[in-house]
Order: sequence, then C-alpha cells, then structure tokens
Amino acid sequence: MSTPPASPDGGPAQSKARAIRGSILHFKDDPREGDSAAWEYYEDGLLIVEGGCVARLGDARALLRGAPRDLAVDDCSGKLIVPGFVDAHVHFVQTDIIAAYGRRLLEWLEQYTFPAERAFADERHAHEVAEFFLDELLRNGTTTALVLGSVHATSVDAIFRSAAARGLRLIAGKVMMDRNCPEYLRDTPASSYADSKALIARWHGRDRLGYAITPRFAPTSSPEQLEAAGTLAREHPGVCVQTHIAENEEEVAWVRTLFPASRSYLDVYDRYGLLRRPAVLAHGIWLDDQDHARLAASGAALAHCPTCNLAMGSGLFDVARASSAGVQVALGTDIGGGTSFSMLRVMQEAYKVAQLRGYALSPLRAFYLATLGGARALGLDDRIGSFLPGREADCVVLDPAATPLLARRTQLAASLVELLFVLMVLGDDRAVARTYVMGSPAQQR
Ligand SMILES: [Zn+2]
Repeated sequence: MSTPPASPDGGPAQSKARAIRGSILHFKDDPREGDSAAWEYYEDGLLIVEGGCVARLGDARALLRGAPRDLAVDDCSGKLIVPGFVDAHVHFVQTDIIAAYGRRLLEWLEQYTFPAERAFADERHAHEVAEFFLDELLRNGTTTALVLGSVHATSVDAIFRSAAARGLRLIAGKVMMDRNCPEYLRDTPASSYADSKALIARWHGRDRLGYAITPRFAPTSSPEQLEAAGTLAREHPGVCVQTHIAENEEEVAWVRTLFPASRSYLDVYDRYGLLRRPAVLAHGIWLDDQDHARLAASGAALAHCPTCNLAMGSGLFDVARASSAGVQVALGTDIGGGTSFSMLRVMQEAYKVAQLRGYALSPLRAFYLATLGGARALGLDDRIGSFLPGREADCVVLDPAATPLLARRTQLAASLVELLFVLMVLGDDRAVARTYVMGSPAQQR
C-alpha cells in the first residue's frame, strides 16, 4: 500500500480534490424493512473527496463530464467501495491472546486476559502493540473502532498517540476495575476517576479522537467505582460510555449476587447513569424485554460480537429481537475473545448465529451494521459511516476477485445482494484491496 504525502502537521495531505472510482455502496438508514431508499448503489460510481471529506457521490461518467481535468482519480473499477468498517467493541490490549484455547468467559479472564493486560503498564510494550493493532485494523478495512485499553492510563495514551499519527477516528478508554481481579490490576474509585478525567482532558476532541468512560463490567467494579463512572458521565455529556453486559449465564448469575437490589444486570448500569447515547454495551445476549425497552429509550447500543460468543460458548445474540425493540445494534470483533480482526468474518458469524436463531440476516443489513450501524452506536454518524456530503471520506475497497474461490464465486453473483453475501462468507483481510482514511490511502508501518 502506498504512503500518502505528509502534510506539515504530519497527517495525510488533504487539500486537493481526488476521486475514487468503482462500484460504490453506502447506507443512509437501516435497511431492516428492505426499504430500497435506505441505501445507495452505483455500479460505476465516483466518490469525489475534498479536504478529506465527501464532496460528491454519483455515476462516474456523469460526474467526470463536469469534473476539472486535473482531478486525480484512483481507478478501482471492478471493486466494491463501502464506508470504512466500524468495530464497535475491541480490546487492543488483548491482541496477543487471540486464539487462546479452552476456556469460558470468567476462567478466560483469569487465565489469559489479566496476565496479558498487566504488561501494559510498560509504555514501550503498549506502543508496540498499539502500532501492530492499528496496522491490523487497517489491513482489514476497519477505519474506526471503540477500543478498550487496560487499567493503565499509559495503554490509552499509546493507542491515541498511534491513532492520531495516522489520522484515524477512534474512541478509547482506560478500563476501570477495583475488585474481583488480581491485585496488580486494580485501581480505586478515586484513582480511576482522576485518571479517566485526565485522559478526557488530554485526548477527547483532539484530532479525530474521542474518549470512552470504561468500567470493565459490573463484577469488577465496586458500587463506589460505578458511582465514580456515573459522575464522569454526568460531567462529560458528549463522552461515550463502554462496557460489557450479559455475555454468559454464569456472569449474569454472579451479577445478581453482587447487586441484589438491582432488577437486572442492565439495571445496575442504569442506576449509575451509564445508559445513554453514546454508550455501547458489548454482548447483551441474556437480556429480557424490559431491558430491551430501557436500552431503546436510553439510546444505548449493543455490540454484537459473534466470533467471541461462539468461541466462548456464551450464547446466541438475537439481532432481530433487539432491533425490533428499537435497540441500536452494532458489530464488534471483541479481540482477543473474538477470533478475527475481519469485520467480514464478524458479519459471516452474525449470519450463522441468526440462522441458529431461526432466521437469515440479510447481507445488506450485515453491511449496514458494520458501517452506518456502528457509526450510529458510537454517536458518530454525522461524521462517518456513510458517503453523504460532508462525511469524512474513510472507506474500504473490497476485491471480489481477491482469491481464486472468491473470483469464481462472485462471477456467478446475479445481484448486489448476492455479491455482498459471497464477500461476507468468503472474504476476510485478503478481500481488502485498499483502505482510505480521509480520502487518502491509509498509513501503515
Ligand atoms: Zn470485550
């Protein structure tokens, strides 16, 4: 992948208009009802980018007729261009424990996760992993992610510094946890409040970065710490909240014993003022109708992480049920419990989970969830997730002929929907021909 020329401030040069030509698809809304006004598709399309943002989108031949002669056009004909993928739940500090064998959630945390996260007290280690992690996101066409760090503020400084250097839109937060974890990983209600506040002051709103208040999950936070998280949320209304909820049944039973006064797991977060837009709660497999109604009313979203849920035997998320209740749903890789950085793989597994629930997740809906759906969950749909004029021009170019099997199978695709389905079933990082950030080829090491 080529490196774009650097501007004086070190970011990609963005002043000149450029355009990308190919088959272009984006969503304006959730295509749940099969409403064709929810998406826009140009078989021979042109995306004109000015100052890093979308200036125009339309039929290539029509737009090129009126375009300045020196418009630089990246010709991606024969490929499919969609908005950059949004990974709505991922732990960069778990990069090195992907593919850890044989455990369910609570044992997995003890045996693999906590020891791995301990290493992020070291700044150099945090930086090295952050760089690898962002390379991997971009190789997979993911241009925005909602990222959990470790308990150490240094981990979040590292991921923000690396994301800023590449001009990425990214949200991250320091995990807050003061109980039910090893002594060496504990903060306190006061220190987690102070560290999070300092990180918000240092990073939130700088470049394309945003902060997320990040209690790991209810079992690892005392009531006092959840209170502190709620105070942070109140003091910073625009800041995202991220955590986990109702991933497996043992965890749900444990939360019931830890917070006996709460009606449900969701109610624990609700009592501390942590449900709002934007807030993203990962998993949400074991929720009831009342929880769904409360989520919908609060604007908080669920991140469906099927590769993780299947690998850990946690359960089958019901995307149709959550959506019907009006809950905003997004997709996440949940590295390192998840088994792939590829959002195409996540879509594929979401499809299989839906099949086990008794219905087919449409390919259009899967691509929506991985793009605009994710942007909406993160409260960023006015910036990213579609190609509406003025949106930041983050996009991924998918090659339907990336492998012999993809080439053979996509040639037989009779419709856009069929092409999308083949891409999400057979595609992964190999199908990503190029990733653009603010209209320029992504910077990788
Ligand atoms: Zn997670």
